[in-house]
Amino acid sequence: MRAYNFSAGPAALPLEVLQQAADEMLDWQGSGMSVMEMSHRGREYTSIHEAALGDLRELLAIPSSHRVLLMQGGGLAENAIVPLNLLGARRRADYVVTGSWSGKSQKEALRYCDAHVAVSTAAGGFVRVPSLDEWQLSPDAAYVHVCTNETVNGVEFAEVPALGDVPLVADISSHMLSRPLDIARYGALYGGAQKNVGIAGLTVVIVREDLLDRALAICPSAFEWKTVAQNNSMYNTPPTYAIYIAGLVCQWLKRQGGLAEIERRNIAKARLLYETIDRSAFYANPVQPDARSRMNVPFTLADESRNAAFLDGARERGLTQLKGHKSVGGMRASIYNAMPMAGVEALVDYMTAFEREQA
Ligand SMILES: *Cc1c(COP(=O)(O)O)cnc(C)c1O
Repeated sequence: MRAYNFSAGPAALPLEVLQQAADEMLDWQGSGMSVMEMSHRGREYTSIHEAALGDLRELLAIPSSHRVLLMQGGGLAENAIVPLNLLGARRRADYVVTGSWSGKSQKEALRYCDAHVAVSTAAGGFVRVPSLDEWQLSPDAAYVHVCTNETVNGVEFAEVPALGDVPLVADISSHMLSRPLDIARYGALYGGAQKNVGIAGLTVVIVREDLLDRALAICPSAFEWKTVAQNNSMYNTPPTYAIYIAGLVCQWLKRQGGLAEIERRNIAKARLLYETIDRSAFYANPVQPDARSRMNVPFTLADESRNAAFLDGARERGLTQLKGHKSVGGMRASIYNAMPMAGVEALVDYMTAFEREQA
């Protein structure tokens, strides 16, 4: 009855998580109320909040140098919140533009500083990750910003370079919790939860503690990382239900074997889909093999006039939300943690059958 949902976000959740949320909807663990109805200062919600924070730390192996903040506003708000918190006395920040999301980050930052494009891969159509020797870094940059998984273009950094003293800031919205990350390399990381961590309304920020004293005076208090950190992400009412769901997703991930195991599955799922695309003359993905995203797989049909028929046939088979982003066209299959291998197998079976029909 449930579809295989390939949405880029808000995206599919693990069935077990939805079932547990349903079971606990009216009465959370004998409290007599739904999580939605709890005071965020109460004993019950506090235990949910602490467990979610603890499980995020454990799964991502976050070192004690870094704080985890549970915020609101999504990835887009962070595009402003990052410069507001990190510029300090500096006027410049460097942006690595590898797709539409990092392009948006750079444009938003222009409201607050000289947001310098250190490198852009727009000319080639956002199909690669530029090597460090192409990055034109500024000596006076407050930070360097990257988007390590470009959700629209399907470009993912295999790893980020070590930059030395300048803080590296990463938008990890669409691959957070899909693989282990070396958090110590980063000054700050952020992402909306609705791709791979849970539901819309929660933004997870991970920030190195020594960077918490650089906020500009005009930064709204509720968006000042230091204030949020000092109040254990309860300066204002946190998105309690979204935090509860993120906590259930973390518990589910731990039951699966943690991020090393989920990464192994994500590699296998992505490999099957890219192999199907590459083997065929009918489907194409333009991204360089070493920069291909394991999470978001855009692909086009050789005969674009067949796009609507492809989507209709997919929907009939319970394969939904495959339409590509308008800026890239074609299709996009987002295969986050919650997409099982069986869903990717159903997709490639359908793709193979559809191609055969065209012959
Ligand atoms: C979805 C997404 C965003 C925007 O997130 P919102 O929660 O809608 O603000 C930003 N960056 C990346 C990489 C995304 O995938």
